[in-house]
Amino acid sequence: MAECLFCAIVAGEIPAATVLETDRILAFRDINPQAPTHVLVIPKEHHPNVAALAAADGALLAEMIAGAQRVAADEGVSQTGYRVVFNTGAQAGQTVHHVHGHVLGGRSLTWPPG
Ligand code: AMP
Ligand code: ZN
Repeated sequence: MAECLFCAIVAGEIPAATVLETDRILAFRDINPQAPTHVLVIPKEHHPNVAALAAADGALLAEMIAGAQRVAADEGVSQTGYRVVFNTGAQAGQTVHHVHGHVLGGRSLTWPPG
């Protein structure tokens, strides 16, 4: 079993509700959704956070963003709008240290709330 939760999902050791898979990225539904659409987009390769991925492989980060747009379109939220969030570090609430973009949509996400 992989030590990293999302590496274990990539390896098929832990099941996930996959919505998109390519050679290099995977997208699956968040287990604790915060919006009607809440999908996590990850690279199959392990990088600890978005800054590390940007430094190591900018093209792979671009594939993640293209994947997020495809997921949003498939979920029917690309026209109404969606958010891609990369929590980075403890104070931002990053709990899984394998880079992931949260694709959130299907409700109002204006900031600040209200
Ligand atoms: P973060 O707080 O940015 O590190 O986000 C980690 C996300 O992973 C959280 O939104 C969790 O709900 C989600 N998560 C944790 N375990 C799983 C799992 N087995 N399958 C899908 N999502 C998960
Ligand atoms: Zn990993």
